[in-house]
Amino acid sequence: MSKTLTRQIDGPAAAPHPPERAAAHIITFGCQMNEADSEKMAGILQSEGYRLAPVPEEADVILINTCSIRAKAEQKVFSLAGRLKRLKKRRPGLLLVMAGCLAQRWGEALLEKDAGLDVVIGTGRMAQLPSLLRAVRETGRPAVDVQEEWAGNHSASPLREGRLKAWINITFGCDNYCAYCVVPFVRGREWSRGPDGIVGEAKALAREGYREITLLGQNVNSYGAGLEPRTCFPDLLRALDADSGIARIRFTTSHPKDFSVGLIETIRDLPSVCEAVHLPLQAGGDEVLRLMNRRYTYDDYRRTYEKIRETVPGVAVTTDIIVGFPGETAREYDRTLRALEDLRFDGIFSFRYSPREGTKAWNMDDDVPEAEKARRLMEVQELQREITVEKNRELIGRRVEVLVEGVSRKDASRLTGRTRSNKIVHFAGPDALVGELHGVRISEAGFVSLRGDPVRPGSGRESGGGR
Ligand code: SF4
Repeated sequence: MSKTLTRQIDGPAAAPHPPERAAAHIITFGCQMNEADSEKMAGILQSEGYRLAPVPEEADVILINTCSIRAKAEQKVFSLAGRLKRLKKRRPGLLLVMAGCLAQRWGEALLEKDAGLDVVIGTGRMAQLPSLLRAVRETGRPAVDVQEEWAGNHSASPLREGRLKAWINITFGCDNYCAYCVVPFVRGREWSRGPDGIVGEAKALAREGYREITLLGQNVNSYGAGLEPRTCFPDLLRALDADSGIARIRFTTSHPKDFSVGLIETIRDLPSVCEAVHLPLQAGGDEVLRLMNRRYTYDDYRRTYEKIRETVPGVAVTTDIIVGFPGETAREYDRTLRALEDLRFDGIFSFRYSPREGTKAWNMDDDVPEAEKARRLMEVQELQREITVEKNRELIGRRVEVLVEGVSRKDASRLTGRTRSNKIVHFAGPDALVGELHGVRISEAGFVSLRGDPVRPGSGRESGGGR
């Protein structure tokens, strides 16, 4: 998945660095963490006098914020870099920056790829971006900074793409070392931001008119480890619910081994915390889960899952599934299919396993043939498609609260927004509702979205009932 920050912004008066009216274009691959990082880097560039260019052809700096989670994501980045190198030949002075997980993983070795890169910057070094660009302009030589040490926060505020919804990082890095995952190697050991800074950021967003925040971390459930005074993720949610003034709070990602009963009850009890949980299962068979180093069994997972469903009315639960992990026999794979039928998630993100160098699984025998991985992936997706449609249809006739985000891109006569359970809803209504929480009665449901009719203004939870 790639996404481009395309909003045009005005820069301050020209300065020697960057060149007068210089423009930057940012291309983002990967997860929400990367999207949040891109907004930070856009803010840093703006504070340095850059404006954002809507297309690469108009930019003086092109920054690719990369993902390394799958081989395919890396291939996409390298093919894009090749195209941009050709653009560079036509635009002398254009600087190419590679940031994010792939940059962190490859470091200086990226320069040997002959991709025309000028700056390679690691995931914790964003604050150094201006000085690296300056160094390149002054010396004409590429600059690399992929130190593991966190470079601190830049004083610039993120240049957020949306005006209603914002991401807030609460933890960085990961200590879990799942056998397939490069994140602990590219984002380092886990640490948590102090709660005061997080609540302060949320309050500032509420004052600016933001209605929804998503708390981000590789494993938000272990938030607070190592902080003094002691705190935990439910404490943070309580502080945000009480003090931030934000209408809706979401969070991602969770690790099933750390998803406590206390957290489940906190979701139930706090009005601003949305009933949407993303709880990656990855596989349904215990042997594969063990090989993946997930540190739970399927039964452990199911107990947590059922507790969430029982405790939080109207909750939607989504998950991640990897097929074709080393050692995934036909029998183990069948357990994943049975798990999907058994648990009936609202939605899944599914992937085929691809080996990543440096991970524990890199040394395992990648013994599921690619064609079989593709077949399994398709089967998983087809099964889940039916389940998702059925789950969505359960909402027909029900009244849901929608945060109205704008006019539908596909149908300009309709508004679009999301339920508290994070489902997309289209309905007819006046533009004045954009930014509001509004009630909608669901009349149609498909795989990707729901349709409905506006009813009286929204007031909180969907409750799974027909209110
Ligand atoms: S919890 Fe596992 S999958 Fe998630 S970031 Fe950490 S190591 Fe990767």
